[in-house]
Amino acid sequence: LEEQIRRSDRLKTIGQIAAGTAHEIRNPLTAIKGFMQLLNKSLADRSMEKEQEFVGIVLSELERVNDLVSEFLLLSKPKEIRLVSMRVGLVLQEILPMIRNEALLHNVTVLYYPKPELAPILADKEQLKQVFLNLGKNAIEAMDGGGTLIIRDYHDPYETDKIAVEISDTGSGIDAEALEKVFDPFFTTKPQGTGLGLSVCQRIVHDLGGSIEVSSDEGGTRFIVKLPCASGTDD
Ligand code: ADP
Ligand code: MG
Repeated sequence: LEEQIRRSDRLKTIGQIAAGTAHEIRNPLTAIKGFMQLLNKSLADRSMEKEQEFVGIVLSELERVNDLVSEFLLLSKPKEIRLVSMRVGLVLQEILPMIRNEALLHNVTVLYYPKPELAPILADKEQLKQVFLNLGKNAIEAMDGGGTLIIRDYHDPYETDKIAVEISDTGSGIDAEALEKVFDPFFTTKPQGTGLGLSVCQRIVHDLGGSIEVSSDEGGTRFIVKLPCASGTDD
């Protein structure tokens, strides 16, 4: 047991150092990105296309490092959450333009039929947006040759104090072995993946008192997020 405590202390310390380091990486990254954009512009002014191409690669790799650092920070040092009563449909409406845009690029059809009569939930809007964006992005990335992304929200028939949001796709699916690991930090099957998206989703949903489940077969994958309703009769 002593050994276990020592190990968990050590892991905690490593986590803190890593979070601090990630934070420190951010500032120089922002500066590098800014100057690269300036460089890109002056290369464009001089029609230096080859060099512009190189700078473009640097910028897109920077974007990857930036994503990794942001997701890592979200995971290791959760922000204060501000719980506000809101309609989940409104949150979905706000991210839909981004999802549709991404879907268009990948030949994916997005179906969402808003349900205005649903009870409000208690959540942090920015964090919840992050959850649905991550799930939507994963779904689209799983549909290489196009497909359909369906978003549904409804009162959970089993847990009536919960609202469920379902995000399902007609993509590649997840095999049984991978299904066990999808929420693990750094688990990814994508060459450019961070493997942090679903860990972040799970962390946020749990912090909100909800749950997140996944099921998958050859026909595609379905994530179900359940969130507690704002009862209005609390205390
Ligand atoms: P990343 O997207 O960076 O790989 P995530 O944590 O978002 O990291 O996802 C982890 C892994 O889970 C993915 O690499 C993929 O293998 C699998 N996955 C997640 N969502 C889906 C989906 N909708 N369809 C198929 N596989 C998925
Ligand atoms: Mg992802």
